This record gives sequence, structure tokens and C-alpha cells, in this order.
Amino acid sequence: MIHIDPVAIHPVLGGYWHRTQLPGIPEPGQTLVMLCGARGVAAFEALARRCDRGAPHRCTECDARYRRAIGMPPSPFREAAPVSRLIGG
Ligand SMILES: [Zn+2]
Repeated sequence: MIHIDPVAIHPVLGGYWHRTQLPGIPEPGQTLVMLCGARGVAAFEALARRCDRGAPHRCTECDARYRRAIGMPPSPFREAAPVSRLIGG
């Protein structure tokens, strides 16, 4: 058995890692909606392949929404905001 904490799942879409609220482990092919509104289809692969297309960057909008939701101050780091809102089907 492999146990996965859904809170630790940070989907990578379009070169950015996002945050989402999952009630459980998504099924492959399941459409996921990120906190920033981006949508993608769940697929799984080994963590070692995470940087195959370059290191993913933090989605600043997901991060800001997550921080607000848990009462955390805004991130002191500035990064370019992701522009892609549509990945997958
Ligand atoms: Zn996002």
C-alpha cells in the first residue's frame, strides 16, 4: 500500500506547481481545478521526472489564495505570475 496525503499534492501545469483542494487522491484522468482557477487532468509519474521540462515555478496566485485561507501573511518573494489558465482537457 502507498499512502498519499492529498494536502501534499501540488499539480504541475504549464511549468508551475499549483495548489488545489482535494478530498482524496484523484483518479487518473480526473479534471482538477486549482485554487487559481487553472484546470488540468490528473496524471501521475515519479517525482524524479518533475523537472524533465525544467524546474516548475510556484503559482503565485495559488500561493496567495492558500496563504489567505490559512491566515498566513503574503509571500515576501516576487515571481512572475503564471499566464496559462488552460492545460489538459
Ligand atoms: Zn495556480
